[in-house]
Amino acid sequence: GMISVSDLANKMAIKSSEVIKNMMNIGIIGTINHILDQDTAQLIAEEMGHKVILQRENVLEEMIMKDRDLGNNISILRAPVVTIMGHVDHGKTSLLDHIRSTKTAFYEAGGITQNIGAYHVKTDLGSITFLDTPGHSAFTAMRSRGVKITDIVVLVVAADDGVMPQTIEAIQHAQAANVPVIVAINKIDKIDSDADKVKNDLMKYNILSEEWGGDNIFVPISAKTGKGIDKLLNVILLQAEILELKAVPTGMAEGVVIESFLDKGRGPIATVLVQKGNLNKGDIILCGFEYGRIKSLRNQSGDEVLSAGPSIPVEILGLSKVPFSGDIVTVVRNEKKAREVASYRKEKSRESKLLKQNKINLDNMFDNINKNDVSELKIILKSDVQGSLEAISGALLKLSTNEVKIKIIGLGIGGITETDASLALASNAIILGFNVRADSSAKKIINIENLDLRYYSVIYDLIDEVKSAMTGLLSPEY
Ligand code: GDP
Repeated sequence: GMISVSDLANKMAIKSSEVIKNMMNIGIIGTINHILDQDTAQLIAEEMGHKVILQRENVLEEMIMKDRDLGNNISILRAPVVTIMGHVDHGKTSLLDHIRSTKTAFYEAGGITQNIGAYHVKTDLGSITFLDTPGHSAFTAMRSRGVKITDIVVLVVAADDGVMPQTIEAIQHAQAANVPVIVAINKIDKIDSDADKVKNDLMKYNILSEEWGGDNIFVPISAKTGKGIDKLLNVILLQAEILELKAVPTGMAEGVVIESFLDKGRGPIATVLVQKGNLNKGDIILCGFEYGRIKSLRNQSGDEVLSAGPSIPVEILGLSKVPFSGDIVTVVRNEKKAREVASYRKEKSRESKLLKQNKINLDNMFDNINKNDVSELKIILKSDVQGSLEAISGALLKLSTNEVKIKIIGLGIGGITETDASLALASNAIILGFNVRADSSAKKIINIENLDLRYYSVIYDLIDEVKSAMTGLLSPEY
């Protein structure tokens, strides 16, 4: 913790000048705004004959959260939040553009849609919010912070191209996050399109239509002609109905930052997806390491609005600095306290970066099992050839016991990529490479986040090490 000279003086009920004098005694020159670290502040206070009681750092955070007005507690249905995923060039942008141009005209007569990273559209049957996040990065960045914002994934697969690497990645992300997948088979206007082949190929990845005993809905569409898109929207709303998505629309809002940037003229700007309550102009918010009072809210049409409710994306102005996407936004009552909590969090994160010990790895696994933290060992497996991939995954799955289930959440042929690393991070998985290596961008994430990556060239060694870890016999590596 940190404290300013004036705050410290306040706590001791003495004049700041007294503190400054005592600071000088130990060689620190500063004014009343000077910030002292915990040890120094403690030393000075004790020198002055005061007893120091260290405040637990999260006390203030707890207080500020308790002091929120949570509304009337009556939840009502909210619009589903949908992410469109799929391989490059399969038509994600075209699909979103088509939906946007045909479904948002209602309140955007003549206006230009602003790119705020999400769109709320209205259909005759209900509203849907689409997230326009590039690639899978935002999806995983948010999940790795433990935030779930996507209710439904629409997987776009071009019928003339079929299942491709990023299609498979998208499936892995959705399945790891436990989000239902609706398949939009796109480009059916093309003569070489083959929807059945797409259906067949997706079976391998556990994406199965209802008539085949699965629970994924397939909708053939053309993002070019617009065919099937109304059906797709209806299917999304149907799926949403099954999920019974509800939120309390009153009280102090809570939401998530889905996009943020620094505008030279206007300052830090963030798009917030409201998840609960009502976000208003003038609200004081805490947002990750930042805080602020909302100066203005703008909707996707660029119009200023006074408030936004659940599942509505709005651009907000008034934050101290640019927050991260995935940061949770919470409305609180007191701006000064919000600032203190924000700076506590910053401080804490600096400390915890130094000792990132909470990540799963094979060495600490047994401890975690004993603490009941782990009942599942999640693995991402990459290998050089199909044969070894199958042999290893088969053998790994057989290692599952009553205490520990082995779950392979991602597997594939080829080197370990950034996607593998971010999936591991988001899902708290370990990465095993058989005769393959991690590329430089994957290595960066693995190092920064301290993920457990292991290389093998002998199948027996790999299996043996996982098995030992599961039974707690693994000798620590030095
Ligand atoms: P993204 O990379 O997934 O966002 O794909 P885009 O939306 O940029 O589409 C890639 C290309 O496919 C573009 O040239 C689109 O015009 C084209 N495309 C997208 N959907 C369709 C479709 O339904 N039919 C046809 N014929 N072309 C399409």
